[in-house]
Amino acid sequence: MVGMDAHVVGGGIGGLATAVGLTQAGWRVRVSERAPALSSDGTGLLLWPDVLRALDALGLGERLRRLAVPQPPGTLRRDDGRVLARVDPERVRRRVGDVPHVVARPDLLSVLFEALPEATVRFGVTAPVEPDADVLVGADGARSAVRRRLLGVRYGLRETGTTAWRVVVDAPTSTAGEVWGRDAKVGYTPLRGGRTYFYAVLPTRERRPDGDDHAVLLDWFGRWPEPVPSLLRQADPARLLRHPLHRLAPRLPRYVGARTALVGDAAHTMTPDLGQGACQALLDAVTLARCLTGVSGSEDVAAALRDYDRARRRPSQRIAAAALWTGRISTARHGAGVRDVLVRAAAALAG
Ligand SMILES: Cc1cc2nc3c(=O)[nH]c(=O)nc-3n(C[C@H](O)[C@H](O)[C@H](O)COP(=O)(O)OP(=O)(O)OC[C@H]3O[C@@H](n4cnc5c(N)ncnc54)[C@H](O)[C@@H]3O)c2cc1C
Repeated sequence: MVGMDAHVVGGGIGGLATAVGLTQAGWRVRVSERAPALSSDGTGLLLWPDVLRALDALGLGERLRRLAVPQPPGTLRRDDGRVLARVDPERVRRRVGDVPHVVARPDLLSVLFEALPEATVRFGVTAPVEPDADVLVGADGARSAVRRRLLGVRYGLRETGTTAWRVVVDAPTSTAGEVWGRDAKVGYTPLRGGRTYFYAVLPTRERRPDGDDHAVLLDWFGRWPEPVPSLLRQADPARLLRHPLHRLAPRLPRYVGARTALVGDAAHTMTPDLGQGACQALLDAVTLARCLTGVSGSEDVAAALRDYDRARRRPSQRIAAAALWTGRISTARHGAGVRDVLVRAAAALAG
């Protein structure tokens, strides 16, 4: 392979991981990131075992496992405290050899960034959307301009009507859990360093005229089962992140052009209900780099991109659809009784 080069638009999880994979495959890579520096925002991300294996393929899995916390056993409960299902990560280990791990988003970004040769990433640069390299990778997130150029304005973000609040609480929890109510849910899981990642989902209309998000959460969840109220009381209101939730629709007919590929949220923005957005971005990145390994001309590139599309489009779109349904079911306003019976039956069957 002689001197193939890639321009990656976006230095988030998908863009940096793609850059690591392509660099290791011998490509000359530059990343353009419009933010002035590596993002230090964000809370916790669940990394599933298949993603940890993908990170192993980049030589980064062990480092991430050291920075992450293996997901502890936990429960799925109703807002009256009744247990709907028990979550035992050891069952996952018995099936696939590892347990899900929870990592702080800034730690994941740093590990990816540090795996790149110096000066690969140019910060403060808004990249062009036309290919100016052998391959242009659109890793520019949910509002991707590269996607718009490739497929037009028909494909865009749709609001789900729900909003997620997330915060890292400087207090420990020993278990992970989700609690489902009518119209709302919360979840919590330990992070490294005695901290806890806490998230809540509510209808977007739930706002106070004074904009006090912490008070909204205390009003809703102050009487939910522990540790929900105590975690909320210990949360620093200034660190609460609030995101209206979106999905990408309709689903994209392709993730690639002759010299362009979309990865991550640019290709499949999904709701966070299965904790899969970043995971799917990482799987895209590793797969794209594998498909482009060893290619040496424009015909090879086009064929490799088609392989990438075949490998990643359907699986990631299935996960996005499943996440949307999980979100709808877990925060259902009506029929919560039927939902709870079904969840308990499914958990009993799963053993
Ligand atoms: C509430 C919530 C909870 C979540 N929880 C989880 C979880 O537990 N597990 C999980 O796997 N995922 C989770 N996610 C999803 C996850 O955060 C995203 O899927 C993931 O960050 C997508 O990565 P990305 O690189 O595709 O996009 P982004 O992280 O959005 O990165 C895109 C980058 O491109 C840059 N950019 C955009 N346009 C340009 C341009 N023209 N030129 C240059 N740069 C540009 C942006 O500045 C940005 O840095 C969650 C999301 C939400 C909202």
